[in-house]
Amino acid sequence: MQEISSRLKKENISIGFVPTMGALHEGHLSLVKESKKENDITIVSIFVNPAQFAPSEDYTKYPRDTEKDARLLHSEGVDYIFIPPVAEIYPADFKTYIEVTDITKKQEGEFRPDHFKGVTTIVAILFNIIQPSSAYFGQKDAQQSAVIKRMVDDLKYDIAVRVCPIVRENDGLAMSSRNIYLTEEERKKALILSASLKQAEEIINKEEREASVIIKMINRNFLAEKSIQLNYIRIVEADSFKEAEKLLSGKEYFILIACKIGKTRLIDNILISV
Ligand code: AMP
Repeated sequence: MQEISSRLKKENISIGFVPTMGALHEGHLSLVKESKKENDITIVSIFVNPAQFAPSEDYTKYPRDTEKDARLLHSEGVDYIFIPPVAEIYPADFKTYIEVTDITKKQEGEFRPDHFKGVTTIVAILFNIIQPSSAYFGQKDAQQSAVIKRMVDDLKYDIAVRVCPIVRENDGLAMSSRNIYLTEEERKKALILSASLKQAEEIINKEEREASVIIKMINRNFLAEKSIQLNYIRIVEADSFKEAEKLLSGKEYFILIACKIGKTRLIDNILISV
């Protein structure tokens, strides 16, 4: 992969890169489509990154279907699929981690303490191997995208980070590789995330500006659904991920929700321009 990327770079061929963990769906493919539009060559990596899973999480159970993924990517016209073995990325004597401070500690960081350290480490390694001109991430993982942008700025990577909108199922559920874990009943209950975000957007459109009022309203939905374990509802400034008390006009915010339905942890968010 390194040889191919170096050759492409020498020939001034622009490389668009889409890092994934496989089990691909339309959300991933939307990133591929965007990359294809903006670059000469598109490279997709499939790597279930052990460093970003806590021991209690679903690393071994994470869905893997490389053949199906390859078929989907082939029909999108992807140029290269990079599927490195774990032992090549993390050999036994591996000792180096990349860690973005501060913005990795709140929200997802409170519930998944070493998660972003694993993410930034793998993304840095993949950036070094692939040397892309642009890299594509989903707003689905809004905090992750903000953390990657921070890393790219701080480490002076010459890479444009593009963040693409959330792709949803027809009923509003944000597409996720983990949705296949949901039972039929849980799948219905999972609509509480997207429905609550929509409801929040509506009251903001009706001039509600107090974060606490918006959060309380969403919280009421979750209180009524005893079988769902809410992790958090937060409203943050879109660029800094600082929690907001009042929404100010001219600024952008994310409303973030994370919860567990049965054994499945789901996250969703909405970008609000006030
Ligand atoms: P993953 O395979 O879950 O690590 O995701 C790979 C990339 O796809 C990340 O940048 C995600 O944010 C993005 N992604 C996942 N789900 C969606 C979605 N529903 N819409 C848009 N992007 C997504």
